[in-house]
Amino acid sequence: ASGSSSLSSASCTYNETQEDDHRIINLKLGDPMVYERYWQEMGHMTTMVIAGWQSLSYFSDNNNELCWFLEPELAKEIVRVHKVVGNAVTQDRYIVVGTGSTQLYQAALYALSPHDDSGPINVVSAAPYYCSYPLITDCLKSGLYRWGGDAKTYKEEGQYIELVTSPNNPDGILRESVVNRSEGILIHDLAYYWPQYTPITSIADHDVMLFTASKSTGHAGMRIGWALVKDKETAKKMTEYIELNTIGVSKVSQLRVAKVLKAVSDSCGNETAKSFFEHSYDAMFERWKLLKQASKTTKGFTVPDFASQRCNFLGKAFEPQPAFAWLKCEEGIVDCEKFLREKKNILTKSGKYFGDDLSYVRVSMLDRDSIFNTFIHRISSSFNSTL
Ligand code: PMP
Repeated sequence: ASGSSSLSSASCTYNETQEDDHRIINLKLGDPMVYERYWQEMGHMTTMVIAGWQSLSYFSDNNNELCWFLEPELAKEIVRVHKVVGNAVTQDRYIVVGTGSTQLYQAALYALSPHDDSGPINVVSAAPYYCSYPLITDCLKSGLYRWGGDAKTYKEEGQYIELVTSPNNPDGILRESVVNRSEGILIHDLAYYWPQYTPITSIADHDVMLFTASKSTGHAGMRIGWALVKDKETAKKMTEYIELNTIGVSKVSQLRVAKVLKAVSDSCGNETAKSFFEHSYDAMFERWKLLKQASKTTKGFTVPDFASQRCNFLGKAFEPQPAFAWLKCEEGIVDCEKFLREKKNILTKSGKYFGDDLSYVRVSMLDRDSIFNTFIHRISSSFNSTL
């Protein structure tokens, strides 16, 4: 990893001269710009030249009778990175590539819903759940599936699909299914099961596991996700959905993500320099340290308490340091999103979108240093709601 020395010295201090109290900072989405510095420093390691004649065919792999639009190079690097990190089983699993894990989520719903006349199957997830799930599930008013709400209070008989997001968006907690009935069909969304966010305590081994370049390496703009699927018929149906939806997935994007994943895996085997995950772990560690300090000083808000666990990949114990802070306003502030918007010029996403109450907001921890430092500066001053 050439040029890594300047990375580790990157400043996390706040520059007073840049501050403009009226400038609105937007931390509503989890745009992964925190990774920009690392990839800039890596220079041409992930640069690619793809000639026009290289992306003509719809087909990527004539030998893959299942996911024929999956680039073999991407498949190879997906298997390799999971082996290096030890966060998911890939042996005897089918890989389905998607335009982000957002497309794969829909493909999984299509594949796992009964296609008979039994009516739409309920899709549930424990609150606070990822706010896009209800919107994506219900946007086309499908006859196959419908949003069924909070898994914690789900009482209906019969089959259902439960989404298990672990670590969870918005609160970063490692999760298991909560409904726990034999008729349950599970989808595990493991977008954040990477060592910069949470200790890797075991090799995930579930029926359908969703991953994405957006949160692992920060390449959200390449729009590549992948599913590791145990059952062949499910993988076939997911592939069928992607065929119907977009015929396939951009070859150019797949090749670029393959190159990025290769750089990540190579960096992990490099004894002399910090790996991608060590760099990103350090960045998240520093940010969470500042946020916890601010919470202690102002007493105006709290963030979740996490237990420390040993990470098999990094070889040390640490507390989760999620991609989002699930922040709760104290001091009698009822509507936290409104307070932060009106009094601090910080845009966040209200707890109501996650099936929770207004005292919570989700705040991205993944923006650039300058934005993050402005955020810390603003929330370090008084939370007195009468200000
Ligand atoms: N699942 C979870 C839990 C997420 O937080 C996100 C991104 N915010 C996604 C899926 C979607 O990721 P992608 O960019 O791969 O579509």
